[in-house]
Amino acid sequence: MCSACWNNSSKKEPFWTNSPSFIVKSYSPMAETKYIFVTGGVASSLGKGIIASSIGKLLQARGFNITIQKFDPYINIDPGTLNPYEHGECYVTDDGQETDLDLGHYERFTGIKTTSYNNFTTGRIYQSVIDKERRGDYLGKTIQVVPHITDEIKRDMLYLGKKGGYDFVITEIGGTIGDIESLPFVEAIRQLKWELGKNAVCIHLTYVPYLAAAGELKTKPTQHSVKELQSEGIQPDILVLRTEHELNAGLCKKVANFCNVSPDAVFQSPDMPSIYQVPVCMQDQGIDRVILEKLGMPVGEKPSLGPWRAFLDRRNNATEELHIGLVGKYDLQDAYKSIIEALQQAGVYNDRKVRCHFINSENITNENVAEMLQGMAGYVICPGFGQRGTEGKLIATRYCREQNLPTFGICLGMQMMVVEFARNVLGYADANSTELNSKTKHNVIDIMEEQKNITNMGGTMRLGGYECAVKAASRSREIYGSDVIRERHRHRYEFNSDFLAQYEEKGMKCVGTNPESGLVEIVEIPTLKWFIGTQFHPEYSSTVLEPHPLFLDFVKTAIAHQSEVEA
Ligand code: GLN
Repeated sequence: MCSACWNNSSKKEPFWTNSPSFIVKSYSPMAETKYIFVTGGVASSLGKGIIASSIGKLLQARGFNITIQKFDPYINIDPGTLNPYEHGECYVTDDGQETDLDLGHYERFTGIKTTSYNNFTTGRIYQSVIDKERRGDYLGKTIQVVPHITDEIKRDMLYLGKKGGYDFVITEIGGTIGDIESLPFVEAIRQLKWELGKNAVCIHLTYVPYLAAAGELKTKPTQHSVKELQSEGIQPDILVLRTEHELNAGLCKKVANFCNVSPDAVFQSPDMPSIYQVPVCMQDQGIDRVILEKLGMPVGEKPSLGPWRAFLDRRNNATEELHIGLVGKYDLQDAYKSIIEALQQAGVYNDRKVRCHFINSENITNENVAEMLQGMAGYVICPGFGQRGTEGKLIATRYCREQNLPTFGICLGMQMMVVEFARNVLGYADANSTELNSKTKHNVIDIMEEQKNITNMGGTMRLGGYECAVKAASRSREIYGSDVIRERHRHRYEFNSDFLAQYEEKGMKCVGTNPESGLVEIVEIPTLKWFIGTQFHPEYSSTVLEPHPLFLDFVKTAIAHQSEVEA
């Protein structure tokens, strides 16, 4: 575990110098950036993000400096205002962009840091074009989808390659080929393929369904999807076929024939027990080799993926289960994606298979709390917005504190720890966050001064990475192994420091603060087994090869707690 990663007290590097610590060998930067475009067909949710991440991982293991970006065809400027039921978790980059959750996969797989330049939406592109139009930048021209929107997309697609000095820029296009809204992106890729020539490849991910009644795998949807892509002017160079059943060589050859793709450029991506096995599965079939060949580059040796394989082995060997309760209002995997991934990564490094259980806080009452929380080794009080489910979270938090159960409060979860403590220990029955009760006298969580007059909801929270000074002799300091850390935020409300002395006196310690503003970032009750709340979101920065220390320690304590209970 590299503690240096959490210690960002040194001056912040420009984003493009971020290079992961596990690069096996270093090539001198290539003269020209290569571009890999990843599109999807037949159905959504096939895992384009996982394929893009896996390709990134494989190229990185060959020593290349890579980045991955996503273009989403919806009109929202960013997913920040989207309901998790619509769009899953909103992932936040260190530079404060609210993004698609696929960027979380990019970071977890490759250890790269993404930025606001790694995720664009149709809305953001139109906004930029319209702003330019209002400024008069187009000198009286009629503004049209082609060329103005497509030029803007092309500019954004090339930006990281030009500015960041990457060897490879992998670009994933959200949605499915054939959708009306993805047309400008596909047109931009068509044009770029011409302009970039040998420096671009297109990978198309499709689905091969198995018809149980006929006992057959069907390639027709793939053929149609490729035809659709061709009719939009793009000939894919490589096909990846998602499938629940192994595809034989004959079937892949047939797809190659019908789709104008060379037979060695058709790959299959069967369902895997873990998404982290996908890079190995792709490497075994040689996708990275074929990409390099298509780009006219020397292939070189096949990298061993040593640390990655070690992680997978450890994951496979960790058969003993550890049950963690997620107390929140969504019973939806994707809503807490990064938290679940961070817990599972921490599980692997503690030789456990972590199973997450959703505990719907809307249903928790004083009467049923013991029953609803029963049987877990530890609890995460989840982030969130708005009133719904918060009283249940407070009841759960109280139960966890009083029963001395390992408890991790994240963002709203930390705020719940603070409110619960005020109500039941400081004796302020009406204590609350002003987000949930704007009239309370005991506003232990309050809106920041600079947030008070904000009326626009989108992109106006406290977002992205901020430094946090961690107090000596605290549990958090011990866990991080560093006095100064840097973590990502996404919230509007803060601990109200008017109450700080009272908390400290009664045993809830404010052990992490922003060095500039003094805002409280971490609270803990040191007399309990593990009761830590963070105003920031540590889950965003946990990766496969660098799991987050707070999650590692939380899981470790949960294991010890479970053994105690069972003894
Ligand atoms: N709703 C809270 C706030 O805005 C917490 C946000 C969160 O959990 N991400 O401060």
